[in-house]
Amino acid sequence: MAAELIDGKAFAAKVRGKVAEHVARLKEEHDITPGLAVVLVGEDPASQVYVRSKGKQTVEVGMNSYEHKLDVDTSEADLLALIDQLNNDPAVHGILVQLPLPKHLDEDLVINSIAPEKDVDGFHISNVGLLGTGQKSMVPCTPLGCLMMLRDYHGSLSGMDAVVIGRSNIVGKPMAQLLLGDSCTVTIAHSRTKDLPDVVRRADIVVAAVGRPEMVPGDWIKEGATVIDVGINRVERDGKNKLVGDVDFASASERAGAITPVPGGVGPMTIACLLANTVTACCRANKLAEPEGLTA
Ligand code: NAD
Repeated sequence: MAAELIDGKAFAAKVRGKVAEHVARLKEEHDITPGLAVVLVGEDPASQVYVRSKGKQTVEVGMNSYEHKLDVDTSEADLLALIDQLNNDPAVHGILVQLPLPKHLDEDLVINSIAPEKDVDGFHISNVGLLGTGQKSMVPCTPLGCLMMLRDYHGSLSGMDAVVIGRSNIVGKPMAQLLLGDSCTVTIAHSRTKDLPDVVRRADIVVAAVGRPEMVPGDWIKEGATVIDVGINRVERDGKNKLVGDVDFASASERAGAITPVPGGVGPMTIACLLANTVTACCRANKLAEPEGLTA
């Protein structure tokens, strides 16, 4: 049986549409325009591409985009001063510091200096704690996107066995918290997990977030399972550069019930969820009703 394709590109367009509708309503009814500030330190080419793409999509949904590009040798004090200024700027509802930062800057210190209510990446320690205790928080964008696609496909996730492969702070751990919040029985697998194939074979839902090209073969997938492939790996095939996920798409789609492709799966959902988080942050800051279906 060939798996149903979960089209992240189309789903992300829907999310952006909902965000744009809500932004238009905020402008019309309350004269408020949500604003997202993105801070980029240095000239990492991949980060530059992400930041450009974030700015473009922010403007496309009708929000204000504020880009702050700082020299690679910017001091920690100067970066913290900028964040402090953005924390206190009422026109800025979301702040994102593009990672990775140059080595001389303390990432944890920088992220934790963002006002938690403006931390649209959901990496601030307060948001991590709120998510972990099932309270209202800012939810990291990539796992939020995965959750939205799973809810859309399944409706309720209650009682399902979910395996998350990878335990990073930005994907694996928050993904597991979100699935737990939706009443899945959750296993987090990682580089030291014994019998990973057996662990994965138990799963109704597999979320792969490792960063190893096609490491999950089809015969690890339970018949009919839903596979969410977060991995983005650049490989060379037939002399060409290609993007592949952490799952072997061809063999996994023979057994899965549904699967996200790479590219065109989780990737486009990440920025869509960043925009969703910004409009949510704006509503919370102004004590207005939050848009439905755009939070965890
Ligand atoms: P990371 O390197 O921080 O974490 C990888 C995790 O994989 C670790 O917890 C490690 O324990 C686990 N791991 C490593 N080898 C393993 C093995 N052999 N078996 C089982 N587990 C193993 O990576 P990350 O930041 O969580 O990203 C994971 C992947 O997701 C990367 O490919 C990254 O590019 C991609 N990613 C995609 C998006 C998106 O928007 N689609 C966003 C973030 C990350």
